[in-house]
Amino acid sequence: MEVSIGDTQILKGISLTVNIGEVHAIMGPNGSGKSTLANVLAGRPEYKITGGEVLYKGQNLLAMAPETRAREGVFLAFQYPVELPGVRSWQFLKTSVDAMRQHRGEKELRVREFDRLLEAAMETVEIEGDLVRRSVNEGYSGGEKKRNEILQLALLKPTLALLDETDSGLDIDALRIVSNGVNQYKSSERAIVMVTHYQRILNYITPDYVHVLVDGNIAMSGGRELALELEEKGYEWLREEVPA
Ligand code: ADP
Ligand code: MG
Ligand code: MG
Repeated sequence: MEVSIGDTQILKGISLTVNIGEVHAIMGPNGSGKSTLANVLAGRPEYKITGGEVLYKGQNLLAMAPETRAREGVFLAFQYPVELPGVRSWQFLKTSVDAMRQHRGEKELRVREFDRLLEAAMETVEIEGDLVRRSVNEGYSGGEKKRNEILQLALLKPTLALLDETDSGLDIDALRIVSNGVNQYKSSERAIVMVTHYQRILNYITPDYVHVLVDGNIAMSGGRELALELEEKGYEWLREEVPA
């Protein structure tokens, strides 16, 4: 896949296969295109796809509207979760769940049923009751915003979870909570693509594959051990490995 923003090419020919049940980590220096990759898959509008295709469950993902992708089970946990003043978190979550259910031909959940699911999801990410009664992300701490992204994951149970630096800015306790949430979501019926700078979170969530993005190309792919090698050697040496 090739992607530009304006006249600048950001992704220069990424090729990647993610099978159901797998966890892939996308690592790489700042500005290498990691968020671009995640955002394009989720259907954020500011990008121009100049080449390539993305198949999701045998369908052309890039032809689907962002809402359709979400309803088909593609979920993006934002690097910078957005505040939605005036939109109550509880309502936002309920609407999201109902939209996915409706797409599958299931009926809207009754409040009691939804609250039971919500409570279970809140427990997995250790979120307290009053947080979901407030506006989405408004005045949440950095850690609460990230945990709130994983709350959505626990509740919506998407097929493909794209996690963009969900670990950044988390202290050890929040990192453990977020990782627990992701690990509980993990299953043979779902796939995870996890963008991260640091191998730290990979101590908690074990990836099947690690890919290193450098200047819009995948410079190297490997297993869990590649993340450890990067921790030791940094990213600079990989610039020479980038295909011309
Ligand atoms: P990463 O997530 O790996 O840090 P990004 O995907 O955010 O990288 O960014 C890749 C490159 O694209 C960077 O050089 C960045 O400056 C540029 N970029 C990202 N978003 C925009 C935008 N909206 N307009 C112009 N350039 C952008
Ligand atoms: Mg970055
Ligand atoms: Mg980024």
